[in-house]
Formats: sequence, structure tokens, C-alpha cells
Amino acid sequence: MTTSVIAALDIGGSKLAITLANANGPLIRLVQATRKSGTPDAIARQSIELLAVACQRMAIDFADVDHIGVSSCGPFDYHDGLLGLTPPNLCGGLAHYKNLPNDWTFIPLEFVLREHFTTIHIDNDCVAALRGELCFGAAQNESNAIYVTWSTGIGFGLCVDGHILRGKSGNAGHAGHMLMSEISEALCGCGNVGDLESLVGGRNLGLRLGKSLDKIFSSARSGDETALAIVHEAAQWFGRGLYNLIVTLDTQCVLVGGSVWRENEALLSALVQTEISNRFPALTKGVRIQSALLGELVTDIGALAAVMPEAWVTDWRLRQPWQLLKSEFIA
Ligand SMILES: [Zn+2]
Repeated sequence: MTTSVIAALDIGGSKLAITLANANGPLIRLVQATRKSGTPDAIARQSIELLAVACQRMAIDFADVDHIGVSSCGPFDYHDGLLGLTPPNLCGGLAHYKNLPNDWTFIPLEFVLREHFTTIHIDNDCVAALRGELCFGAAQNESNAIYVTWSTGIGFGLCVDGHILRGKSGNAGHAGHMLMSEISEALCGCGNVGDLESLVGGRNLGLRLGKSLDKIFSSARSGDETALAIVHEAAQWFGRGLYNLIVTLDTQCVLVGGSVWRENEALLSALVQTEISNRFPALTKGVRIQSALLGELVTDIGALAAVMPEAWVTDWRLRQPWQLLKSEFIA
């Protein structure tokens, strides 16, 4: 049977998106606030419901869609051989921030998706983003690449010798939680003090400084010395995290995405590059730090790429059909 329509599901801490695509490109993308109450399978059930709505809108028989790529916030875990989610920002039973109306400790994602789909591929969101950039973005001919997002949190996708790393539970790339310095006030949502995300993740940094990152970066851009010092320190920590991974994995290029980077690339780029290029030239010479190309749809495109027939890829590279995709918010 040939695959005619595939689906992508993108699960984030605040929003959930589903996309349907055929050989010509993405057809529809529906977005809804991520459900955070009810039984532990609420998010998986919501995903199926939203997919059914999208199919109805496009006059597609839901039964004909049997491939789904998932991009989700992690970490993941296996229960009875099926992959599910254990993110502290969705599971009230694991949360370090006490603001969730549930006591979940595990979200049974694959278990629910198996009721409908035969082909399921679940990636961490940064791994999906890396897959998107390798397939359609800034790293199309690279075998040794890192994707990193610098936004509310810090996450990575790692590709070595052409293999995207997954690890024993699909959690490879959670290097935002690598320990950097146990300075007392930098606390991460994972419970660590002084890991990379606690030091420079948008949420943690803003909380620690008691002001929004937007304000800090705009003050830095207009030359405020205190703000500039904060930005320099953040870029140093971020660059050191990248350096540690580059020398561990022998990486050729690092693709950076995420809102903090996108909005402040002009300020951050040279600072981060310096943290890498100034160290151990035999391992860092020629390593490129560059912005990811696919923007806000990078995880959706990566999730589609994971289950897409090979025959679609060349044509999508030429036409970049995702550029035409409009998202619609469903209340
Ligand atoms: Zn952490």
C-alpha cells in the first residue's frame, strides 16, 4: 500500500499541534492548548481528537492515515515496552514548579497512538528539529551535527557519523541538564542547581534576575553595561556547553534555534563562537555555529520527515512547501 497522507504531532508544554501532509506538502496545521488535567492519557486522547478534526476539515478518511511522527518535550520512559512522556512541565506528580492540576507521573503516548497508527516515530523535540534541519534545512549534507534550542529551556539533538543519537529511552540530547557550576541561586525545573538550563534557559534566567529576558537583551543592545555583562556571561555558559559537546562528539556544525537565539543572534553569535574557537584548535577548527533555517515549524517538519516516504524528499527540498503552511488555533 502506498502512503498518501502522513501526520505529525508536536507536543509542547503549552501548545500541541497536529499537521497532515501528502506528497505535495503540508495540508493543514491545527494548534490547541495542551491539556493538563484529567487522566494521564488526556494529552494522547486530545491528539487523536485533533487529528480527527483535521481529517474532517480536509475530507480525508482518518482510517487512511497510519503513519505519525511525533515531536515532544521529554524526558521519555518505557512502560511495558511502549514509549511515554515524563516531562516535569506536564506531569504534576513530577513537577518542581507547583502549578499543574494533575498528579501524573507518566503520559502513555505510544500506548494510545498504537490504537490507531501502525507506523509511529517519537522523537524528543530537539531531535525532531535536528532531523528537520538534516533533511530540509541548514545541515543537508552533514553527518556530524548538533541542533540546540535556546529558548525557555535548553535542549539538544545530536547526530554522529550520520546517526541521530537516541539512547536507551530516547533521551539522548538532554544536555541542557549538564552540570556547569553549582552556584547557589541558579535552579532548573529538573531540580538541578547550576546546570546549563538553570544558568541560561530563558525561564530560569529571567526568574533569577527578576526581570524579563526581553528587557535585559534590549538594554544590552542599547549599551547598558549591567545588561551587557549578563548577556556576556550567558553567552559564555552557552558556548562552554557547546564546546563540551563538540569535543566529545567531534562535531562539524552546530545549528542554533529557539526564541532567545533568534531574537538576539547579532549580539550572541560572536560571543558564543569565541568560547569555542579559543579552545583546543585541533578539535574546534572549522566548526560552524549557525542559525537553524526552518524557524518555528522546525519540529513539525522534523516529525513529518521521520515517517515520510523517501520519494517525497527531493521534491520538498526543491519546493519548500511548508512555507505556505498556515496554522489555525482551535479553542
Ligand atoms: Zn536541569
